Amino acid sequence: MTELLDKPLTDRPTQDLVCDVVKTKRDQVPTTAEKLMDNEQLLGVGTTQRSGQRADMPDSPGLSMYEWATDLFPICRSLTGDGVRRTLHYLEDLLPGLVIHDVPSGTAAFDWTVPDEWNIRDAYIEDERGQRLVDFRSSNLHVIGYSVPVDVWLSREELEPHLYSMSDLPNAIPYATSYYERRWGFCLSHRLRQSLGPGRYHAVIDSDLAPGVLNYAEVILPGDCASEVLLSTYVCHPSLANNEISGPVVTAALARWLLSLPRRRHTYRIVFVPETIGSIVYLSRHLDAMRRNMIAGFVVTCVGDERTYSLLPSRSGNTLTDRVARHVLKRHTDRYDAYSFLDRGSDERQYCSPLVDLPVASLMRSKYGTYPEYHTSLDDLSLISPSGLEGAYLALQKCLRIIEANATYVATTPCEPQLGKRGLYPTLSTRDSAAALDLQTMCNFLAYADGRRDLVEIAEIIGADALDCAVQADRLVDHGLLTADTNSTAGRR
Ligand SMILES: [Zn+2]
Repeated sequence: MTELLDKPLTDRPTQDLVCDVVKTKRDQVPTTAEKLMDNEQLLGVGTTQRSGQRADMPDSPGLSMYEWATDLFPICRSLTGDGVRRTLHYLEDLLPGLVIHDVPSGTAAFDWTVPDEWNIRDAYIEDERGQRLVDFRSSNLHVIGYSVPVDVWLSREELEPHLYSMSDLPNAIPYATSYYERRWGFCLSHRLRQSLGPGRYHAVIDSDLAPGVLNYAEVILPGDCASEVLLSTYVCHPSLANNEISGPVVTAALARWLLSLPRRRHTYRIVFVPETIGSIVYLSRHLDAMRRNMIAGFVVTCVGDERTYSLLPSRSGNTLTDRVARHVLKRHTDRYDAYSFLDRGSDERQYCSPLVDLPVASLMRSKYGTYPEYHTSLDDLSLISPSGLEGAYLALQKCLRIIEANATYVATTPCEPQLGKRGLYPTLSTRDSAAALDLQTMCNFLAYADGRRDLVEIAEIIGADALDCAVQADRLVDHGLLTADTNSTAGRR
């Protein structure tokens, strides 16, 4: 697209990507104390407390994220409409600088068109005595998303084609939408559906489906370089927990942590979009800049439960994002579910499509489509937990730390340097195992610092944690035994 409707802050010329080609000392790698402090800092930035509802709990990122999720869960979101706006305004209070955009219905974005805006006030099915049998006010999943308005009396047989339920989960309300085909319908438990006997039913959906706007929000956190990292999450499902609200709250927590850092090497592009049409619209406006600058990115979805971790790689499968995510998950958890790009299902479908081709993967807890509660009323706040959210948050945070620290190193002297005369090698052998491990990491790191492998690759080869390697690499840089080329890892794919 040549027509950029809103130019982002970081759409800078290509040459800006180059910064600090050879650094004498890389200062982004935090010490252990800094790491602890950063977690404590997480929730201390720019908090607004509206109605006394938004108290932060600095000691527990998981509890704060769960509290935000509890606030956001009841909102009836869809691709467009008041629910999306309410959600984005809530996030605006958490994230200073978040900008909410309006895109008019009918706007073209690549092969797609922004649909009409949908809003709903009430919906129900009542019997002849006026008793509400299906009630939108008790669950916003009861109405098919984008249902057109209706107010009609029907026989049981006439009502039947407008009912949706799941026989295999008879107590659950399914989640269904009809964004691009105009219809109306109700979702209900199979048990309730079967209990509806002969008679006449009053079906009412008090909704509007008319030209309006699609909303999305973004915040750009500038770094020292134009090289960009993307965090993208979606805000289009109604009351679903793991497969909706976990994504925005973990993304918001990561953004607040990034905001709290005194310096960032990379620029962070953080977007909250309705899934599919939102990411397509976003890409139609920012594709050139994203292709030019992006070195890594994550779709943040399904990050709230405690059952497992999952990795859906980018299409190429071996980008910096993929390598870092695998490295982190191997150390973060005993096992994780490694999927293929063939298992894709969220906005990586757009970000990794052939003419976009960005290095975007998805590090999740239980992946969409794989757990029984997925897209049903059982995916509620009891399915996610503070520790589930915090586990995903910490894994993604570590990925970002490593991406910040990553560089390609090259030794400055032929043969092994004499570490002892620089105080880097113990002159007395001891049984201090931590010091011995650090020394082993340092020596192994030095042995592979040939300028062809980056931090993540060497860490994998030598079986050490990338952040531990970064600490040792820093010491070597400080002593003039290594140089770090931070740009060689700025290649995107
Ligand atoms: Zn979904």
